[in-house]
Amino acid sequence: MDSFDYIVVGAGSAGCVLADRLSESGTKRVLVLEAGGTDRRFWIKAPIGYGMSFYNAAVNWKYTTEPVLGLGHRTSYWPRGKVLGGSSSINAMVYCRGLPTDYDDWHAAGNPGWAWKDVKPVFESFERKVGSDGVAQGHGALFVSNREPEYHPLKHDFLHAARDLQIPLSSDLNGDAPEGLGAYPITTRNGLRCSSADAFLRPALARRNVELRSHAHVHRIIFKDQRAIGVQYSTGPDRALTTVLASGEIVLAAGAINSPQILQLSGIGPPALLREHGINILFANEAVGAGLQDHLGINYTFSSKVPTLNGVLGSWSGRLKAGLQFLLQRRGPLSIGVNQMGGMVRTDATQVRPNVQLYFSPISYSATFVNQRPLLRPDSFPGFIIGFNPCRPHSQGHIRIRSNNPFDAPKIDPNYLNDSHDLADVLEGAQLIARLQQTPSMQALIDAPKDIDLASASLQSIEEDFRQRSGTVYHPCGTCAMRPLAAGGVVDSELRVYGVEGLRVADASIFPNITSANTNAPALMVGHQAARFILSSV
Ligand SMILES: Cc1cc2nc3c(=O)[nH]c(=O)nc-3n(C[C@H](O)[C@H](O)[C@H](O)COP(=O)(O)OP(=O)(O)OC[C@H]3O[C@@H](n4cnc5c(N)ncnc54)[C@H](O)[C@@H]3O)c2cc1C
Repeated sequence: MDSFDYIVVGAGSAGCVLADRLSESGTKRVLVLEAGGTDRRFWIKAPIGYGMSFYNAAVNWKYTTEPVLGLGHRTSYWPRGKVLGGSSSINAMVYCRGLPTDYDDWHAAGNPGWAWKDVKPVFESFERKVGSDGVAQGHGALFVSNREPEYHPLKHDFLHAARDLQIPLSSDLNGDAPEGLGAYPITTRNGLRCSSADAFLRPALARRNVELRSHAHVHRIIFKDQRAIGVQYSTGPDRALTTVLASGEIVLAAGAINSPQILQLSGIGPPALLREHGINILFANEAVGAGLQDHLGINYTFSSKVPTLNGVLGSWSGRLKAGLQFLLQRRGPLSIGVNQMGGMVRTDATQVRPNVQLYFSPISYSATFVNQRPLLRPDSFPGFIIGFNPCRPHSQGHIRIRSNNPFDAPKIDPNYLNDSHDLADVLEGAQLIARLQQTPSMQALIDAPKDIDLASASLQSIEEDFRQRSGTVYHPCGTCAMRPLAAGGVVDSELRVYGVEGLRVADASIFPNITSANTNAPALMVGHQAARFILSSV
């Protein structure tokens, strides 16, 4: 049976970091197991290809939640990356660390070493910020690019509208004081997506001590007494089973849905759930799969009096021109994302911290179905989108295995809008968009609101509309939370799984509370922290 020093389960945002850090010395043998396959695909490398990976089963787990009471019993579609790089290969590339106070909250939840002062240098260690002039700051492997000069001219109108309302503007959405609206930096390098696989896994694979097995679907962790000693996985259409051993540690980095699933399948989880599915209980812990948090957001589409990106990406001639520009120069609309402007802001002065995150996209789109395969297509009229989501929802949901079959998708129950605090933020956020919509700068732009006219709608109809149309912003986390065991923790502050030895979890599932913005940056930081803990424990 094969044996390694370390086994990393999942080559996603955090898993790729672990592969890199754990193998750097050249002395430890590291095995990476990933259920998905290659990321060498045009629509992954091309930043605009985000829309093409959205429903593509070749690179995407394509989960669906259980019906959600707060959404009028609707289900919600949850894409997750099933490919090298994980969700960082299919995400919208917005790079935001969140608010410094998010990490002070992590620390206050019983996690020494995770305050902003502790994690800020960790972020800085792996980032390379490339300015719009091409000059780089920092030497990290992750390219975080400022592409503002290439963003659509409508960005000026958006910022003017913000100024009209005296909303602060921000020139650094990742600094010590990131509050305000500005241009989103994105994880691209020379006009191509810079996923975690690009930044961290590829350099690791150049070392002889790292082995990657893709299309390897992990079923469970193998234990001897209470110590994790190996991993069982299957490959190929006949799902042939293999067991690999670890003499050092095993790290679960399978993401916020699959890490708790694998723990439950391995006998660590809520005892009644494990019993129901005939799984021997290794360590009973109600918190495994609980604590699920996510950002729930909504888009408001406006038809525009002036041309938007719809005119470029919605016509053959526009696409041809943009395609050539991308292929020849790695520039233009195909080399950047659609969520171009935004940031974290307060809906009013009484808010202690920014409470909503805004997105401005100079394009509008809807899902169309071509032979039953959904595609995201620009609308036929000139349009743009202003969207938002509350920053720190209080509602918490669950991930629970459906059966003891590792191929059965777990039940995802996000419990959106289960807490009245969240609805209050929703109404505040929508009213802020209404005020933005009414500024002279926006009035000069807007032909008509396409979904609901926030300016004239009652609070009741704003709420109904939100319940009917809102959806995930793709930031599930918190399902293997890092906190003291007695406070509902699954891992301790060095990411060790309670009740067993030799096993850690390192991905977005360990967030003790959701960060105020996008979750890729914090997941990458978690990967770095985990590697540091592991290496310093030997
Ligand atoms: C459509 C979309 C858009 C997003 N946009 C943004 C954005 O613009 N900015 C941002 O910051 N964040 C964004 N996010 C969120 C961000 O990408 C994630 O929070 C982050 O990538 C999570 O990292 P992770 O390491 O926790 O998990 P992942 O990156 O999802 O990695 C988990 C990996 O484990 C593998 N795996 C799972 N189960 C198994 C198994 N049983 N066996 C083997 N391997 C397994 C998966 O295939 C995957 O590769 C977006 C996400 C999505 C899906």
